[in-house]
Amino acid sequence: MVSKQTKTDVILIGAGIMSATLGTLLKELAPGWDITVFERLGQPADESSNEWNNAGTGHAALCELNYTVEKPDGSIDVSKAIKINEQFHESLQFWSYLVQNNRIRNPKEFIMPLPHMSFVQGEENVTFLKKRFDALANNPLFQGMEFSDDPQKLKEWIPLMMEDRIVTEPIAATKIESGTDVNFGALTRMLFDYLAKKGVDIRYKHHVDDMKRTSDGLWELKVRHLVSGEVEHYVAKFVFIGAGGGSLHLLQKSGIPEGKGIGGFPVSGLFMVCNNPAVAEQHHAKVYGKAKVGAPPMSVPHLDTRFIDNKKMLLFGPFAGFSPKFLKNGSLLDLITSVKPHNLLTMLAAGAKNMPLTKYLIEQVMLSKEQRMEELREFIPNAKSEDWDLVVAGQRVQVIKDTPAGGKGTLQFGTEVVAAHDGSVAALLGASPGASTAVHVMLEVMEKCFPEQMKAWEPKIKEMIPSYGVSLMKNETLLRDVQALAARTLGLKETVALELV
Ligand SMILES: Cc1cc2nc3c(=O)[nH]c(=O)nc-3n(C[C@H](O)[C@H](O)[C@H](O)COP(=O)(O)OP(=O)(O)OC[C@H]3O[C@@H](n4cnc5c(N)ncnc54)[C@H](O)[C@@H]3O)c2cc1C
Repeated sequence: MVSKQTKTDVILIGAGIMSATLGTLLKELAPGWDITVFERLGQPADESSNEWNNAGTGHAALCELNYTVEKPDGSIDVSKAIKINEQFHESLQFWSYLVQNNRIRNPKEFIMPLPHMSFVQGEENVTFLKKRFDALANNPLFQGMEFSDDPQKLKEWIPLMMEDRIVTEPIAATKIESGTDVNFGALTRMLFDYLAKKGVDIRYKHHVDDMKRTSDGLWELKVRHLVSGEVEHYVAKFVFIGAGGGSLHLLQKSGIPEGKGIGGFPVSGLFMVCNNPAVAEQHHAKVYGKAKVGAPPMSVPHLDTRFIDNKKMLLFGPFAGFSPKFLKNGSLLDLITSVKPHNLLTMLAAGAKNMPLTKYLIEQVMLSKEQRMEELREFIPNAKSEDWDLVVAGQRVQVIKDTPAGGKGTLQFGTEVVAAHDGSVAALLGASPGASTAVHVMLEVMEKCFPEQMKAWEPKIKEMIPSYGVSLMKNETLLRDVQALAARTLGLKETVALELV
């Protein structure tokens, strides 16, 4: 069966936004390197990066309440919000560079300006939102944010959500115009089109079955063509495992010690999509609420205007759920086969520790359509069942590992780069904040894996991403410049830039 062995410089496993971003960065920095991509599906962006499989929020902490935590003394910790906002700015700068330099075109097809809002009810939540607003409003990164607890003002901001609402308790919202809706599927496809034109060898319907280190320190991948069944072996100096939910299995196959003791727990997602354009037309924002008790942070309910296939749509969710698959197109055996002797105790500890999450997921799976409609009616009081359909979104595999702070079997909700000590292989695990911070996370992969080249690459990185290595919060002039550039090149609202002038 084994036909040949092919040598290449870089192998990217998976054709999602992460491989697309890393491949594009490397083509700018090391144009002479040979890159090969393997994707088990027939086209790019068919798993989590697909526009129907994620929420398309350009996560910049403008509306996500879980990025600002209330400390025991009642003050608000905004450090995570600042970090995520600055990371999203790195994505905006790189995308601006790509558009400006004709690597990709028609930014409207992948990014649209859209107000980001947080919406809460009940005295305690309103107090929290006001404190959050006070902690962020004077920060240059969040300039332009408004707060209101006046139902009349909210009617102006979110008419669909306020129509027929009986206000019996305090209610409040924040609004900021500089938010975005990002079609990560469209962006991923554009980047792979560009990479193909630049000579990157992209092989669809190719499944990476196995990988092992060769005696001379390279990586040999066993790749199966899913149509012909033919097996080929590819050898590379560097491998990026950007296989989304498939990354954990491949990391385990690599056998690197850095991958030991790590487990994964899949959480599936479901959205409701409005099939009535007259209703969708009445809303224009991404409105994030507060997570329910026991809910994982990525299950914060939100009502989102989306731009998909040049159409304005309205989606609500995500509802969480459980499936043992690690990929939407994965296998029911994914979870069980990810349990190995080295992570068994970690997985068992996680199971025992996360009973509220398990209970929450089971309840979510059991919800009927009418029960889901009731959750939607907290956002749109007069929502009609016939106007809404259910769509299955992507799978997120949360990392489980032992941590000094959380102890054995701690569930992680972030994104994690796991790299071999010699930088010859890196895997991306986890899914939050996800695609929005792809540029920052891929720069982190490069720092871990190409420390020697990074010095020489730095001037070019700074040309593409001027805020690389700089705090935008502390450098307002640069912040203004990069926001103005994003407004000009990506068609984001000019007010984003003008607000700060
Ligand atoms: C419900 C939901 C909502 C989300 N909302 C947001 C949001 O609003 N904003 C945001 O920024 N992020 C969001 N995310 C996260 C975001 O979608 C992901 O972080 C991002 O798409 C991950 O990209 P990726 O390239 O790592 O993985 P993917 O896009 O999943 O790509 C991985 C690819 O690898 C392939 N693959 C797997 N195994 C193999 C193998 N063995 N051989 C060959 N190919 C393989 C898969 O087929 C797949 O195409 C959301 C995710 C979900 C599930």
